[in-house]
Amino acid sequence: MRCLLCHESMTVPWTPATLWRRDWVCPACESKLTPLGTGCPRCGQPNETGETCPDCIRWLALGLDLTVRCLYAYDEAGVDWLHRFKFSGDVVIASSVAPALRASRSSGVTYVPVPLSKERLQTRRFNQAEVLARCIGPTRQLLEKTEVSSQRELGKEGRRHRTNPFTVPTSVKCGKIILVDDVYTTGTTLHQAAFSLRQAGASEVSAICLFRALNKSKSRPI
Ligand SMILES: [Zn+2]
Ligand SMILES: [Zn+2]
Repeated sequence: MRCLLCHESMTVPWTPATLWRRDWVCPACESKLTPLGTGCPRCGQPNETGETCPDCIRWLALGLDLTVRCLYAYDEAGVDWLHRFKFSGDVVIASSVAPALRASRSSGVTYVPVPLSKERLQTRRFNQAEVLARCIGPTRQLLEKTEVSSQRELGKEGRRHRTNPFTVPTSVKCGKIILVDDVYTTGTTLHQAAFSLRQAGASEVSAICLFRALNKSKSRPI
């Protein structure tokens, strides 16, 4: 058997349950992504005290109350992983993070991937957030996104101030929603999506993100 990420050969247990699995990741690759430790309870931004970070305090002051569970640091290994997954289209490597995503699964909630605009979906051919959401459980696409400008073109300040690109075409019957996205950078995307869902009738909205961009890091902005 070969590792899904580095393609080195590895030994795996040989049982009927493991016969058809193809999502093996070797111990060296498994330890590359950095799980988030102590940090802000609302967004995962690492800090030593576990207190709510200044960014989240600003969101709360705007009346935007959203808790986002982030799994891994968007450090060098995270950037490499996401670029391979999202921009090189190596969708199969989602299997390597599927167990961690599945472990977060709750019952009685609807998982809603953050959508791409039609134009972006045509270019990329898959929605990375949807692939990750499907690793957790059944999903529903309740949001639509209209293209404003690429996140890269907007820059950090532009992302903060752009108008909300998300709409909910029908009223939302399901109560509890967990939004799913790939990386939390400024938080604007998830707060805007959550705002639209609440406006449409969702009673409770939280979110899960695979990566948390770290303040003062040298990671490339997405
Ligand atoms: Zn490997
Ligand atoms: Zn925070």
